[in-house]
Amino acid sequence: MSDEGYEQAFVQEAFDTNWIAPLGENVNKFEEELADLVNIDHAAALSSGTAAIHLALKDTGVDKGDIVLCQSLTFSATANPIIYQGAIPVFIDSDFATWNMDPVYLRKALEKYPQTKAVIVVHLYGLSAAIDEIQAICDEYGVTLIEDAAESLGTTYKDKATGTFGKYGIYSFNGNKIITTSGGGMLVSNDKEAIDKARFWATQSRDQARHYQHSELGYNYRMSNIVAGIGRGQLKILADRVKKKNEIYQFYKKELEAFEQVSFMPENEWNQPNFWLSCITLKGVAPEEIMDALAEDDIESRPIWKPMHMQPYFEEYDYFGDKVSQTLFETGVCLPSDTKMTDEDLERVVKIIKKVLAGD
Ligand SMILES: *Cc1c(COP(=O)(O)O)cnc(C)c1O
Repeated sequence: MSDEGYEQAFVQEAFDTNWIAPLGENVNKFEEELADLVNIDHAAALSSGTAAIHLALKDTGVDKGDIVLCQSLTFSATANPIIYQGAIPVFIDSDFATWNMDPVYLRKALEKYPQTKAVIVVHLYGLSAAIDEIQAICDEYGVTLIEDAAESLGTTYKDKATGTFGKYGIYSFNGNKIITTSGGGMLVSNDKEAIDKARFWATQSRDQARHYQHSELGYNYRMSNIVAGIGRGQLKILADRVKKKNEIYQFYKKELEAFEQVSFMPENEWNQPNFWLSCITLKGVAPEEIMDALAEDDIESRPIWKPMHMQPYFEEYDYFGDKVSQTLFETGVCLPSDTKMTDEDLERVVKIIKKVLAGD
């Protein structure tokens, strides 16, 4: 069967067995297969990665007025569920060594807020955070660690999958991620009770009864059997995607690393990234110059995420850090990294960038 054939086969199976609407074999299998892949005991397939973060916070017992420490350099979906729970986010800067949460500022924040309920660390762009140090600090303060691995499925830290270190890990299968079901997410944990509870909340908190009985607030957060069929097919091509993404990154590196204006994302010997996006930072050249030149040729590129503490919606909240995430935002570019790009496409991108760097 061709790579693309798996999704169709699993989706067809859902139709053949009349399991189109919620739940069914694909959902169970997708959970099992993903759990096997990352080597964790339990997984709940949900409608999005955002829903997974929300249920992780809820299961932690995060409630109105509680403090949750959150990496600032990320997509807003990491922080929004803190607000859904009525809790208070406090943002933590990144370090240049990982681009992810700086353990030094995490500790400073915990010193000021020892009552913190949870910490959300992110493995941005498929790079892993300094998870051992962060976990140790969380353990010291007795705080629950949630790993947002939405962008890092396929990444390992010391040979162990990101998303499997904290009490909870979350993955996303949104359209832009390394594998996609068009939309979807997964909550993982080694705690069976936590995952059972998440499935319960995600299906409108229906108590065991013939009639519809509810003793808790519910959510419509479960993944459908059709979407899970696509997910099962996508899991089979994850390794190929990572390989191709790595080749894209290595190509950019080979072509651009000689330019003194360009620095590549951090490489650490304990980290095997999935290379979801190839990102660079620039010195002496504005990211806009590169992005504009690419856009002129209809090639899309993006800045690095704008940190949450700089977002109008979140700027009222406390922030611990210096200017690392801000600097990454102001100097960074995510280069085109789609696995469908051909060698010619990649050469075209590099040619445009080199022209800008040469000041032509
Ligand atoms: C995509 C993403 C999410 C949210 O995932 P959805 O499935 O789109 O809800 C959360 N965190 C990060 C860092 C992401 O990139």
